[in-house]
Amino acid sequence: PPRLSLFDLPLDPVTLDHALDTLGGWMFRDARTPHTVVTLNPEFIVQCQSQPDFVAAIQAADLVTADGVGIVWAARQLLHQDVPRAPGYDLVKGLMERHRGDLKVFMLGSKPGVAELAAQNAVRDYGIQVAGTHHGYFDLPEDQRVAELVQGSGAHLLLTAMGARRQETFNQYWRQVMGVPVMIGCGGVLDVLAG
Ligand code: UDP
Repeated sequence: PPRLSLFDLPLDPVTLDHALDTLGGWMFRDARTPHTVVTLNPEFIVQCQSQPDFVAAIQAADLVTADGVGIVWAARQLLHQDVPRAPGYDLVKGLMERHRGDLKVFMLGSKPGVAELAAQNAVRDYGIQVAGTHHGYFDLPEDQRVAELVQGSGAHLLLTAMGARRQETFNQYWRQVMGVPVMIGCGGVLDVLAG
């Protein structure tokens, strides 16, 4: 479906199923091209007012979904469009359920230990493969080292959970280096998976 524009940010009015089909294609049919995914929420729109690098990262994303009802409501009020919800957690869970043992995931973010626990639980619950894990508390000079860790990991899917803006700008800046077919900025998802 044609891309919408909400507060000058892109928004793709795709259903969860359609998004999962698209991401599956990127991972397994088109695996040499890196793609970034943003799940838009109202907090992002507020932060974007003062942060041009965040705006640029969202504008460069290959898929921008509505993370929750706030965006759905805004699209209805301002654009008179019905935009389905496709939250980060549902995207991640859906991909792991659909692709199971074929899927190699790198989990990046949250406090030390969380990504490892999230990975263990995802292996137990979905049978995915773990490409690697790393916590999300490092400073900009370390970005390249972490990006190269991801690059060498062979992941199909990178879950970047380092909070709004940091996760999106990291994925955008390092996308060519990391070269992962699908990179999703997904906030608290590792905390949820870690239980
Ligand atoms: N996080 C991180 N590095 C940071 C800041 C946050 O890895 O420098 C993680 C945090 O531990 C949590 C996730 O990012 O797992 C989402 O954090 P928060 O809810 O604070 O971010 P928001 O998306 O609300 O901005």
